[in-house]
Amino acid sequence: MRTANNAGRLSLVHDDRILDVERASDGLFTADPMQAFARWDELTAWAATIDIDAHPGSSALADAALDAPSPRPPQVIGVGLNYADHAAESGLPLPTEPVVFTKFPSSVAGPDVDVVLPGPTVDWEAELVVVIARGGRNIPLSEARSHVAGFTVGQDLSERTVQWQGEPAQFSMGKSFENFAPIGPVIVTLDELADPDRLAITTVIVSADGAETEMQNGSTDQLIFGVDELIARLSTTIELLPGDLIFTGTPPGVGAGRNPKRFLVAGETLVTEIGGIGHIRQRVVGGQP
Ligand code: ZN
Repeated sequence: MRTANNAGRLSLVHDDRILDVERASDGLFTADPMQAFARWDELTAWAATIDIDAHPGSSALADAALDAPSPRPPQVIGVGLNYADHAAESGLPLPTEPVVFTKFPSSVAGPDVDVVLPGPTVDWEAELVVVIARGGRNIPLSEARSHVAGFTVGQDLSERTVQWQGEPAQFSMGKSFENFAPIGPVIVTLDELADPDRLAITTVIVSADGAETEMQNGSTDQLIFGVDELIARLSTTIELLPGDLIFTGTPPGVGAGRNPKRFLVAGETLVTEIGGIGHIRQRVVGGQP
């Protein structure tokens, strides 16, 4: 199953078609995407009975106005330094415990938004984002995956100067500006992915003149703490809630890890893609002079 948020309404997606869930189910399910997570298994079972392409209520995906597939997550948990190569480029040792911060939920945005630069050192971090369906505390490793609604694509945009200012540095403010947590375009259930633990993940910057430069090209099989382990470890402290997002960390190739360092400038477009899920696009626009 692939779910999307079309102008605030829970929808199913198949290939290039999209279907409104509340209308197609005659009200069995409500339109609010956040209400779906508590009934995820029921929704998945119903969706399996629907032929989206042939459904008279379906429409062209290209005409949809996609917003974040979990638009009001109760919690947005970020995990830092979770790829060995990225830890190395950051000049930091491999973590022995997950490095955890938050992106405040008001930073969540849809898959196709503008990002206004709040400073000169805004950086990209392509990330696999886990969306939680069934919440809980102290979730055993062996049961972790049954709590997952699916995966989506995310960008953990980060203003590096703000992220590292102060002693000790605090990550969460530099990662929580408006539209700094774009996600989408869809939530994909894990049964749709040939190997959900080995997904290609890339960031491409398209310059104002249309030239494309690949900045990140990794695989989620390089995660130090994998999806199941993150859920098990995080839930020893945090009660995970339906609709929560876990940003699982970024592969190498961020701007701060380059020599010389390289950050986003107005006029560029950031394209973040994960194989089997899709891509999100952010246009970078200038901030206040
Ligand atoms: Zn990150």
